[in-house]
Amino acid sequence: MYDVAIVGGGHNGLVCAYYLAKAGLKAVVCEARSVVGGAAVTEEFHPGFRNSSAAYTVSLLNPKIIKDLELHRHGLKIVERKMSNLFPLGNDDYLSFPVDGDALRKEIARFSEKDAAALPRYQADLNCVADQLRAQLLQSPPNAGGGLGDLIKAAALGIKTLRQPMEMQRLLLDMATLSCADLLDRYFESDAVKAAFAFDGIVGAYTSPYALGTAYVLLHHCFGEVNGKKGIWGHAVGGMGAITQAMAAAAIEAGVEIRLDCPVKTVEIEGSRAKGLLLEDGSKIAAKAIAGNIAPKLLFGKMINESELPFDFANRVKNLKSGSGTFRMNVALTELPDFSCLPGNGAGGPGVGDHHASGIVIGPSIKYLDRAYIDANLHGWSKEPIIEMLIPSTMDTTLAPEGKHVASLFCQQFAPHLPNGVSWDDHREEVADLIIDTVNQYAPNFKNSVIARQIHSPLDLERKFGLVDGDIFHGQLIPSQLFSARPVLGHADYRMPVKGLYLCGSGAHPGGGVTGVPGHNAAKKIISDAK
Ligand SMILES: Cc1cc2nc3c(=O)[nH]c(=O)nc-3n(C[C@H](O)[C@H](O)[C@H](O)COP(=O)(O)OP(=O)(O)OC[C@H]3O[C@@H](n4cnc5c(N)ncnc54)[C@H](O)[C@@H]3O)c2cc1C
Repeated sequence: MYDVAIVGGGHNGLVCAYYLAKAGLKAVVCEARSVVGGAAVTEEFHPGFRNSSAAYTVSLLNPKIIKDLELHRHGLKIVERKMSNLFPLGNDDYLSFPVDGDALRKEIARFSEKDAAALPRYQADLNCVADQLRAQLLQSPPNAGGGLGDLIKAAALGIKTLRQPMEMQRLLLDMATLSCADLLDRYFESDAVKAAFAFDGIVGAYTSPYALGTAYVLLHHCFGEVNGKKGIWGHAVGGMGAITQAMAAAAIEAGVEIRLDCPVKTVEIEGSRAKGLLLEDGSKIAAKAIAGNIAPKLLFGKMINESELPFDFANRVKNLKSGSGTFRMNVALTELPDFSCLPGNGAGGPGVGDHHASGIVIGPSIKYLDRAYIDANLHGWSKEPIIEMLIPSTMDTTLAPEGKHVASLFCQQFAPHLPNGVSWDDHREEVADLIIDTVNQYAPNFKNSVIARQIHSPLDLERKFGLVDGDIFHGQLIPSQLFSARPVLGHADYRMPVKGLYLCGSGAHPGGGVTGVPGHNAAKKIISDAK
């Protein structure tokens, strides 16, 4: 008999298991695939070419978790990008985001002196709110309907907020409710600058930059840090799988049992209490508690009989908004892309630039970002897709043969389900061609340099990783599904409405991203209940 059985060996399941084992609980992780890590894995997709398969860049991973699990001792090394982003604008011009603050201001001044002057205020405002979010991450939000403790927590949070200067309270409201386009209009005038910042507001959000709530999505992508430097993104050497392999090593060292190729069929419930798991192979695992590292829609929609759940809860989970509109590819390249706006790729002419190691985003205007969603909503995808390309082999020699490269293509606004019952299986190759053709418009050697590709349509993401509707966050990051309302109001404390059942994945607070935070916070509750 185990103390806790965890459904899914994603990074949150591993983090949760680690803390449980450290507290002396006997924990087992059941992972359906033959590798742990969930959406944070590295795979060889062409002989000699490896890359992160889904998540591809690191920032949100909480420093406490890195420290507690001693991830560096277990082999994790995170390197910083030399340049944060490049935004090719399609007219042989570009906007770049250098890491250095002065260089960034100068670059923005090329587009608007006013915007360059507004940048420090924007950054200060964003950092201020991000700091407040960071301070809340490692504790469960006040739980509606909870006991006195939650009432005190809510009151303390309310008092803390009301004691802040009125400007700060207004800012918090803005970030929680506005659209990212409206938020950015308050600081900037240049469309290129606004689009560059707005990209973070539509990542994993299948919606328009004008949609209310996307300011929060933007903020969600800014609360991280790399090697102590706030707000920047880096690369895990060996790909994102290096993070989860280090987590698995830490968990195993702490005494966790990890079972691979171990798909769970259902959660066994007896007398309104979770008692164990029934595996797909027919065998059973008995446990005093169960933690689901999978999306709420999967846990409650497929693994638990609806009759075991309160009607309102089951109904709300059924209606959770999910689907991030993500199409994800990896490509193996014979050479680096040579951008018309910033010529050179080291092949003969000018050399490799810092921009080759940055997040290269195709999404040159707010209208472009908006249109991509409108088209996807009507037709399934846009002929002008939003693409972020990262070439991790420029920072990491372990991923591709010498002189060759791998690129991650993370593409936004692809309908989770195609209109009229059409399957993604019938269109994934065509869309992959479109994505490669689109990059080729900006870097004309790109198409010919592609020697292999790995495609993950929204349907592939669902089938391969168990991400319902292809949702990269286990449910959208919209105001009605955040903080005390994640996954459902009344269950923000990681305890689900069946005794002994917990949610420890991204469907719980604070949501998606490779943070480790839901796993950490859920473990705290499980440990306290086990005492
Ligand atoms: C394409 C893509 C790009 C992303 N990019 C980034 C990024 O660059 N940076 C970032 O920080 N975040 C990124 N994210 C988000 C981030 O990866 C996820 O939010 C996070 O990895 C989710 O972790 P998790 O542990 O909560 O769940 P998951 O990683 O989803 O893990 C759940 C696990 O459960 C397993 N499972 C499912 N069904 C069963 C079953 N029946 N039995 C047993 N096991 C089962 C799955 O195989 C999986 O291993 C991205 C996600 C995707 C999909």
